[in-house]
Amino acid sequence: MPFDANEEQRLKIIGLGETSVRKSYYPQLQDRMLELERFHALLDRSRELIILVESASKRIIDINATVCSLLEASKESLLESPLQQWLPFEVVDKIRLIEQEGETKGCCLIDTVIKNSQGAIPMEFVLQCVRFSDLDYVVILGKDISERKRAESKIHTLAFYDSLTHLPNRQLFNDRLAQALAQSQRYHKYGALIMIDLDNFKALNDTKGHHIGDELLKQVAFRIQSLLKEGDTLARIGGDEFVVLLEGISFDGEESVLHSEQFALSVKHCINQPYTLLGYEHTCSPSIGIVLFNGHDKSKETLLKQADIAMYHAKKLGRNRVCQYDPAMQESVEHKTLMESELKAALSKQEFVLFYQPQMDENMNMVGVEALVRWNHPHKGLIPPNVFIPLAEETSDIVALGTWVMEEACRQLYAWHQTYPNRFLHVAINVSARQFQEASFYDTVSLIVSKMKLPSSCITLELTESLILENVHEIIAKIEALRLLGVRFSLDDFGTGYSSLSYLKRLPLDELKIDQSFVRDINHDNNDAMIVKTIIEMAQNFDLHVIAEGVEDEEQLMYLKENGCRLFQGYFFGKPMPPEEIERLYM
Ligand code: C2E
Ligand code: CA
Ligand code: CA
Repeated sequence: MPFDANEEQRLKIIGLGETSVRKSYYPQLQDRMLELERFHALLDRSRELIILVESASKRIIDINATVCSLLEASKESLLESPLQQWLPFEVVDKIRLIEQEGETKGCCLIDTVIKNSQGAIPMEFVLQCVRFSDLDYVVILGKDISERKRAESKIHTLAFYDSLTHLPNRQLFNDRLAQALAQSQRYHKYGALIMIDLDNFKALNDTKGHHIGDELLKQVAFRIQSLLKEGDTLARIGGDEFVVLLEGISFDGEESVLHSEQFALSVKHCINQPYTLLGYEHTCSPSIGIVLFNGHDKSKETLLKQADIAMYHAKKLGRNRVCQYDPAMQESVEHKTLMESELKAALSKQEFVLFYQPQMDENMNMVGVEALVRWNHPHKGLIPPNVFIPLAEETSDIVALGTWVMEEACRQLYAWHQTYPNRFLHVAINVSARQFQEASFYDTVSLIVSKMKLPSSCITLELTESLILENVHEIIAKIEALRLLGVRFSLDDFGTGYSSLSYLKRLPLDELKIDQSFVRDINHDNNDAMIVKTIIEMAQNFDLHVIAEGVEDEEQLMYLKENGCRLFQGYFFGKPMPPEEIERLYM
C-alpha cells in the first residue's frame, strides 16, 4: 500500500514516527496498518462527525465518512482544505478562543447549524485541543441534534401555547406583558390590556357538548386574531377567556382610551357575527373590560385584576358590552369582597338577629309574625336584609343563614307558646330559592320541627315565584312532602312574577301574599286596585288564604277588607321589631 501524505500524518498521530523507523519495523508496521484500517472503518460507521484539524493552519487533517455525507463533499476535497470553508465561522472562532485561553484540557461545546441540500441541520460540536509529537491539533466531534431540537420545541409549545387555539397561554402572556410594561416605561407610550369573556359559554358547552364549545373557541380565536396588528398579542388565559395586549398606542391618554375602545368594539362586532359550529348555527356575545397602562405605574397582577373587574362590570351591565376600568369599580368590588368575608364570619360570631312583624286578622288580633333577619354589624349597626341576603345567596352562605333563621324563629315561637298557651301564634319564615333547592332542605326542616316540639301547622314557609321557574315537578314534590309534615306554604310578593297564573293551579300552596307594590297604590291607581281585587278573588277560587303586605293606612285596609282580604301585615299595625317589643305591644 503506497503511503500518501495524509496517511503519513495519521501515522504520526497514532505514534508510529518517521518513515526510516517504519522500514525497520516492517512486520510490526503491517499489524499497525491493519489495526488502523479497522479503526478507520469503525470511525466511518459512527453517526458523529469526526474531524481532525491542525491547529496552526486550521486545515483539515482527517475526517470520517459521516463528514463527507453530511457536508456532501468528497474526502479529497475536504482533506487539507481550510476548516472555515466547511464549518460555520463560529466554530473556527471558538477554536481560536480555546487555543488562546489554553483550554487544552477542557472541552468546549458549541451549538450551530450546518446547511446542506436537505436544509439547515442543527448540530452540536465538541471541540478539544490535543497534542501529538509536539504538534497541536483540534479534535472536532459533531452530532446532529435535530431530534433533540424538535423535542425541545415541542416542550416549548406545550408549555407556552394553548393546544386548542395555538394561541399563547397565560404563562407566555405574562412574559409578554412584562416586556410590554418595560417598553412602555422606556418610550412613555400607553398600552392597553383587553379582557374578553364569552357570555353564556358554559351553557353552550353543557347543552351541545365540548366539541361544539371547542369549535366556537377556535373560531373566536381566529376572528380576534384577524383584527390584530403586528406587535399586538392575543392569548387564551382560561376556558372562554381571551386577552389582548395592545402596545405603544399613543403618548396621549385620551387618544389611547379612544383607540382601545374602538378596538374592543371591533372585537365585539366580529364575535357577534353568526357561527356555524360543525353544522350547528350559533350566535355569541362577549363582555369586554379594558385597562390602560403607562410604564410600571401598575404591576402585571394589578392590571390583570383591573381588566377583570372592568369585564365583570360589563357583564353586570347586561353583557355584550365594553367597559373601561374605573377606580370606582374597584371600590365597589372591594367593598363587596370585604362584606362577603365579614358575612361568612358573622354567623359564628352570632351577629344576626331576628325581628318580627305582626300579622293581623280582620278583628285586629295578632295571629302570627313574619321573621325578618337583620345583621347587627359591630361597626355599621343594623344592616337590612336587602343588602346582605343577595350576597349570601351568591356565596351560598344563605343555606347556613337560612337554617339559623328557621331554628331561631321556631325557638322563639316555642317560647311564646310556653308563655302564652292560649294564643295560637304562627310564624312565617322566608326561604331563598338557593336554600330550598338544597338536597338536604327537607331533612333540615323536619329535624328543626321535631326538635322544637312545635305543632308544625304554625310554621309557614314563604317562597317567591323566582324559585318556581325551573324544575317545577321537583319543587312540587318537595312542597308536598313538607306539607305532609304539616308545614304551610305561602307565595311571597305575589303578582310581581311572570307566570303567576299558570303555576298557581299546579302548586300545592296554602296562601298568597299580595305584593306591597300593589297595596301601596290601591287608592290612587285603578289598575293596582283591580289587580288586588282579582288576586283576592282568584285566591278564593283556588281555596287559598290571602294576606296583604305593606298596609300603611286605614284607607288601604278598608279597600282590602271590602274585597274579601282577611289577613294583613304592614306599618299600619307595626314595623318589624325585636321579640320583646312584640310581647310588650301585642301579647
Ligand atoms: P319580604 O319578605 O317581602 O318582607 C317584607 C319587607 O317589607 C320587610 O323588609 C318589611 O320590613 C317591609 N315592610 C313591611 N311592612 C311594610 C310597609 O307597610 N311598608 C313598607 N314600605 N315596607 C314594609 P325587610 O325586613 O327589609 O326585608 C326585606 C326582604 O329581605 C324581605 O322581603 C325578604 O325577601 C328578605 N328577607 C328578610 N329576612 C329574610 C330571611 O330570613 N331569609 C331570606 N331568605 N330572606 C329574608
Ligand atoms: Ca316575606
Ligand atoms: Ca314580600
